[in-house]
Amino acid sequence: MVEGPVGVLALQGSFIKHAEILCSLGVQTRQVRLPEDLQNCVGLVIPGGESTTMSHLIDDFALREPLIAFSRQRPVLGTCAGLIMMARDVDDPRVVPLGILSCKALRNYYGRQINSFTARVRMPFDCSSRPLDAVFIRAPGVVECGPEVEILATHRDQAVMLGQGHHLGLAFHPELGSDPRVHAHWLKGFMSYDRARPTGLPTNLDDVFV
Ligand code: GLN
Repeated sequence: MVEGPVGVLALQGSFIKHAEILCSLGVQTRQVRLPEDLQNCVGLVIPGGESTTMSHLIDDFALREPLIAFSRQRPVLGTCAGLIMMARDVDDPRVVPLGILSCKALRNYYGRQINSFTARVRMPFDCSSRPLDAVFIRAPGVVECGPEVEILATHRDQAVMLGQGHHLGLAFHPELGSDPRVHAHWLKGFMSYDRARPTGLPTNLDDVFV
């Protein structure tokens, strides 16, 4: 079981969908808008949305330092704009990232809204190897990964899923649709995370938390 609520950053973007999918896995969630909302959270999801806006709102709500401090202790899952916020560097000076993942994010790497697409992405965790229907909406590209970053999934030779310790960053939207495997993988990973292993995410999914 996951002990305690998983926070979902709820300033902007697709936070409701993340909460729904976590809820479907039997996990309690908490919307995070203020620093005190992070208290007792066992992990945090930073959703997709618009990273320029999210970056501003993080500062407006005095969340920058609390989020960075939280990420040093607890696992973070970031999707799309969330991945951009987790990066060390971003190609757009209007976005001030949190530096949780050692990589650089390129905004709108695949083009504009009209260039959104779904792709079947092979996941690292599912031995039955059923690919995930991954939704890419103005998704970022990832470059300049540090040695501590593990590229867990690719699409057309581009990294689309990154792990760093118990953190996970995704260029696509695993919360859209009804496939909970990415969230399940992240939850299971941080429950069994061992600090001695820098990439502690397991490769198998058992239903230990539902
Ligand atoms: N392109 C958006 C940004 O730069 C991200 C889009 C998304 O989260 N779907 O923030």
